[in-house]
Order: sequence, then C-alpha cells, then structure tokens
Amino acid sequence: MMFDTTRAGGFGDPLPERDILEGFDRLIAEGKIYGAERNPDVLKKSGSGESFLAVAVPSLRRLLSVWDRLFGNRVSPVELLRHLAVEIHGFEHREAILLFARGRLLYDCQIFQGKEAVGHLTLDLYRERDRVVPFLPFPTRPGRRVVYIEGISLTRQSTGYASALFRRYERVFHDLGFHLFRLKASLSVGKYYWAKEGFDCSDREQFREIRDRLWDLVWRLDLPVAEQEVRRLTHMSDVAAFRRDLPIPVYRNADGYYATARDASRHEEFRFPLGKAFLLCSAPWDGFKVIYTDTPRRTGLVWSEGFLDHESRPGHPESPKRLEALFTAIREEGMRESLIFLEPYIPAMESLHAVHDPAYLDAFREAAARGDRHFAVRDCAISAGSYEAALLAAGGVMAGIDAVFSGRSDNAFCAVRPPGHHAGRAQAMGFCFINNVAVGAAYARSACGIARVCILDWDAHHGNGTQDLFLEDPETLFISLHEHPSFCYPGTGRRMDRGKGAGVGATLNVPLSPHAGDREMIDAFEREVVPAIEAFRPELILLSAGFDAHKDDPIADLECTEKAYVHMTRRVLELADRHCEGRVVSVLEGGYRMESLVSSAIAHIKTMQGREVSPCSSARG
Ligand SMILES: [Zn+2]
Repeated sequence: MMFDTTRAGGFGDPLPERDILEGFDRLIAEGKIYGAERNPDVLKKSGSGESFLAVAVPSLRRLLSVWDRLFGNRVSPVELLRHLAVEIHGFEHREAILLFARGRLLYDCQIFQGKEAVGHLTLDLYRERDRVVPFLPFPTRPGRRVVYIEGISLTRQSTGYASALFRRYERVFHDLGFHLFRLKASLSVGKYYWAKEGFDCSDREQFREIRDRLWDLVWRLDLPVAEQEVRRLTHMSDVAAFRRDLPIPVYRNADGYYATARDASRHEEFRFPLGKAFLLCSAPWDGFKVIYTDTPRRTGLVWSEGFLDHESRPGHPESPKRLEALFTAIREEGMRESLIFLEPYIPAMESLHAVHDPAYLDAFREAAARGDRHFAVRDCAISAGSYEAALLAAGGVMAGIDAVFSGRSDNAFCAVRPPGHHAGRAQAMGFCFINNVAVGAAYARSACGIARVCILDWDAHHGNGTQDLFLEDPETLFISLHEHPSFCYPGTGRRMDRGKGAGVGATLNVPLSPHAGDREMIDAFEREVVPAIEAFRPELILLSAGFDAHKDDPIADLECTEKAYVHMTRRVLELADRHCEGRVVSVLEGGYRMESLVSSAIAHIKTMQGREVSPCSSARG
C-alpha cells in the first residue's frame, strides 16, 4: 500500500493538555477508561467472554504521561476511540474501552453484526525501549511505536472484514507515527491471511525453515516447481501469493484446521493454490509489518552477509571491507530502525540469461569452483564464493525492484557487491562479473509490466558494460557521468556514442574533465541529465551509484564531495516523483576509500529517505 508519506503524522501539532484532560474526563464518566493489570493470565481468553481485570482508573498524571509517550498528544482520547471503533462492512465495535497499563494502552471491544456479538478485538499500543548501550539493560530511550495485535476473533465468516479493518488502521496508525504492527503467533488466521496482508515473519531463521518446508512439500507431492522459485521467496506475502496457478488438495477437520494429508479427522477435501494451501496448513508464526519509518520516504535496504563471500586478494580495492564499513556506519548512525531491510535472493537462471551468455556464466561458476584466483582478467579477483555472491547481488537488485513495485518501500538502496556496470554479455572486467542494474532492468520489464527504464550511472568510470547491453534498445535510457575516457578506465564513453540502430538517442555520455569537482558535476547534471530524463519519462529509475568520483577516492580524479551526491539524489527523487511514482532503485557500484565511500553512501541513503542532509554532518572519519 502506498501512502503519501510526506503526510506522516497527519494528526498535526500537539493539542493543548486541557483538551486531552477534557477527553479523559468525558470517557471516564462514560465508563470507557480503566486501568489494567498487564498480566497475560488475567487477560480475556478468546471467546470466553470474560472481562479484563480492569482496575481503578489510574491518576490523571499517569494517563497524561502514557498519552504523551504514545501519541505526542496529537490526538484526543475521544478522537482516538472514534478512529478505532469503526463500522465497516456492517460490523460494529461495541463496548469499546481504553485500558491503561504501565507504559501501554489496550484497546478492547466486542464486534457486533446487527444485534449479534460475533467476535472481539484487542490491540496493545506501546513503545519499544531502545538500549542506548548495547549489552547493558540500561539506560534506554523510547523507541519505535508498536501496535501489537493481541487478539481478533470472528465466529462468523466475513469476506474481507479484517482486511478492510486493518487497512483502515494502517492509515490511522501511520498518521499517528506508529512504526510497526506486530502479530501474535497464536492468532489462528495468522497462517495465511496475515501473510496476504503484507505481514512478514519476525524471525528470519524461522522464515528460512518455513521456506524449507515448502520445498519439502513440493518434493513430496512431486510438483512442477523449480527449487530456484522457492529459494527466491523472501517475504511471507511472496509465500502467500506463490504459484497461484498451481492448485493442490488440502484436508479440513471439523474445527476448520487444514493439513496437506488426509487422515481420520481431516477428510473434507479442498483445492487451493500452492502458497495459500501451504500456509493454511503450516504452524503459526510471529509477524510484523512496517507502517512508518520516521522518515518522509520509506527506503528499503538490500543487504546480506552473502555479499561478503566474494573475496578478492589482499590489497585489492574491491574488498568485503567496503560493505562491512558501510553496514557498521548504518548501525552507528542509528539508521537500522528507519530502513526497511530487504533480503536478496538467488535469481532464476532465465533472469540472468536475459542479460548474460549462459556459457559465460558457466565458465564463471566453474572458475570459482575450481579455486581460480581470478576470472577472465587479473583485475577480476575471485574466491570460491564469488559466483554465488555475484548471483545474489543481481538478485538483490531484483528484490529492491520487487519492493518498490509492491509498495513495501518507496525506494531502495542495494548495498551489493561485486559491482556490475563494466560486465558485458560475455565479459568480466573492472571488478564486475554480472551486470546487476542490467539484470534489474530486464527483470522489471518482464515481471513488473513496465517498458521505459532509465539507468543513470554516476560512478567515476564509464558504465561500458551497461551501455553495450542496451546500445540498440530505445526503451532503456542509459546515462553515464564519468571522468573523460582519455584519462580514465575503461577508456570508453565518449560524447559521440549515442546508441545504435533503434537505440540511437537512448544513450547519453557526459564525460567530465579530470578534477571537475562538485560544480562541474552538478552543472553537467542539471544541463544534460535532468532534461534527458524529463524527455524520456521513465517508469523506473535505476542508479548505478558508484562513489569513486569523491575527492578522497584513490582510483579516479573527479574531486567531488558528498554535496554532489546529495544534490543528484534529491533531483533524481523529484524526477521519479514526477514520472514514476517515486520508484528509484539505487545500486552500489564503485567507491574504494572506506571513509569517503561510507560518508557518501550514508548521505545518499539519508537523502533517499527524504531527510535534509548537510553533507558535513554525515561525513565521517
Ligand atoms: Zn568506478
């Protein structure tokens, strides 16, 4: 679901304290506010009809403190109750009450359809506590705001009620600045319906086990499903939607529980699509859904330790340390909470074959398996894990594209390696093996139903691999800003190269003189890049985001600073807002001095999140 994220906190400025107090008075008089003991044993059991252990109304001071902590006083108690106790699809919340426990607020109601009670709902609103010093239980600071779905039950089948209710709630809690929904595993519907609503499994280890069990089922039933298809699932909603074209039988018992095998109690047979059938039969899981990230735009971060498995030789500039340094900085900058983590996957071979020669990929795989120290050219150092890491990097870009098209994030930064923009159809060079952005562009076209893709490459080196792959393609606008080929590797990217055949005009090379600096970079960007993107009207913008044009980088001489990256990022987002609903997927290419790589990439990511970045504040080291 896409929100106008600039409206986050749509409830406006804090209300005066007297308005909040007035609301409390009114609700206390109406018997709608209580205190509550936060003891799970005394909470109402599903369907039992018992009440909470409601205790005396806490002091007004305590009520105010909870209210301020949760809502920053941006909503009055009466208004909140009105937003939560909604009538949808003929279902109505009655006996809705607010229970104040220590540091948290419970919302509890009975759900009625006409005169008949058909269910109940309990939400628990609280703030996580972030530990300021890792490994110590204190001190802490208030962290993310969470809506914990304690319980929802409906005795009556209602197509779409829970879904409509939680979509409404998502909007309300987003505007109130709540960061996450959390979901209790024991909710019986958690197996399939929550996944379909975009809830992911909280525990990644458990997610991988679930995925393994899906593969076991495929194996056991001898279904026409490739292992690759299962391995690329990275989110519960992918599992829920998996192979809608492939129905399998499942068996239901009298209580409504499903299994994939028929037995004495389960004999009623149904046929459901594979993913749905699998989840209906699987064990429950704890879920979560990000609803707001505290930043104007929701930015995904593609990250995996798998990218570190590509090792180069000692002293090689393209080393795993680059990503380790970047990730350490993301943690130290406190950015983990504000980014949506996206897991990369190994792509299906046809996605790679759309760009690369199968024999070339085989040769690469064999070279890595053989223990060769480099592939094709000496520059391209490899290790045993290089082939898988390179596949995962391309799959990382695909995961980023999946996220922006599904609305899981507004844009995404793919912190991948090895880089890709020098790699051609059957050619490894310049530390690159698989052309990550090119695989992404081809994938977006085949999987997301778009045609026009813009690839903007601001790595200091010309993106010759990407240019060659799309040279004759009028639907892919390739733009490269780079140091002039007379002075810089790989010696291509002259202004006269404008594409070939039908693709003439869809390649734009903007060579810059050595020591260009921010001024010349930004001028060229404004003068040539912006109008070209405007005229092309892309449906997706991919960035080949190298950060080696930085003045501190050892292997180019463009002498730029973070300021140029911040400027270009901001402008690209504006162009994307105008033409492609903000869809920008940025892919790491070069950048070889740790400090400048990290400070540039952090400034770039913060800008993607829509934060105001003054380059100096984020420059480290
Ligand atoms: Zn480069």
